[in-house]
Amino acid sequence: MTALKKPELVCPAGSLRALEVAIDAGADAVYMGLKDATNARNFAGLNFDAAQARQGVRHAHDRGRKVLMALNTYAQADHPERWFKAVDVAADIGVDALILADPAVMAYSRRVHPDLRLHLSVQASATNYEAIEFYRERYGIQRAVLPRVLTMSQIAHLIRNTTVEIEVFGFGSLCVMVEGRCALSSYVTGHSPNNTGVCSPASAVRWEEHGGAVDARLGGVLIDRYEANEHRAYPTLCKGRFEVEGAVDYAIEEPTSLNTLELLPTLMQAGVAAIKIEGRQRGTAYVQQVTRVWRQAVDACANQPARFAVQPGWTSALGRLSEGQQHTLGALNRPWQ
Ligand code: SF4
Repeated sequence: MTALKKPELVCPAGSLRALEVAIDAGADAVYMGLKDATNARNFAGLNFDAAQARQGVRHAHDRGRKVLMALNTYAQADHPERWFKAVDVAADIGVDALILADPAVMAYSRRVHPDLRLHLSVQASATNYEAIEFYRERYGIQRAVLPRVLTMSQIAHLIRNTTVEIEVFGFGSLCVMVEGRCALSSYVTGHSPNNTGVCSPASAVRWEEHGGAVDARLGGVLIDRYEANEHRAYPTLCKGRFEVEGAVDYAIEEPTSLNTLELLPTLMQAGVAAIKIEGRQRGTAYVQQVTRVWRQAVDACANQPARFAVQPGWTSALGRLSEGQQHTLGALNRPWQ
């Protein structure tokens, strides 16, 4: 097998420090967002103001890397100007692309900044080539980030039928619903994950100890019950344990992390243009270690795909950083579909 085209390694930057660490650890591009509701990861204490974003872009560009700005929430009906203003700020700062979900924001960007490259956010939930082609024809998108619900053969089929670059998630937490537009968490917390940046806002989380066990509640709803010595995960509704037909188990999704390292040769043969690492809410140690492992893996696979093998050191390093300390291939490995 000859060398394969190397996909871009796109890493998370929840802060200026994380951006610098990701770039220095080998990211080809980083993605970031502003400190407001235009950003689907609008966490308190994270993200960028315009001055920090400008500094981050300079750091990346000085080293020949790219910065992608996620303005990936849906604009509010009564004040879409905030989203349009954010597009102007990003263009002024000199980001390499915008990651957008709302067609109104795409239309504005196309009209006012026609040279600015547009990527379709995972939040847009485009899962087939017809949808992606629509966004290309109508708004000129040049890349689409796929939701984490497609099998490997569905991804390959989609790539064969569009000229738009395809980016897939390679590592990180899983979201099994409509990527942040999930009614589950809004129902119990009263907050939209679209605008509050998180499915389980800290204000809605409650831990209750009784009789040696610990209950995790979200918006008053019992999500999980842990024995005293059991590892506890941050309560996320889709990853809770519930009683179904008399048995208590993970009814929707297990608290595991997506890790597609072993599928790298297949993803690259299919023509994936970019691999995204999830985790703008994670610390700089996570960003640094995950970026280092993936840099080595992507380089090794591109150079000698036939001899590519996942190194035990990579797996153990990623295992220590994973949600629930377990890995899954998620929807990518559903041979029956
Ligand atoms: S609760 Fe789960 S499925 Fe819903 S948005 Fe959050 S991670 Fe996704």
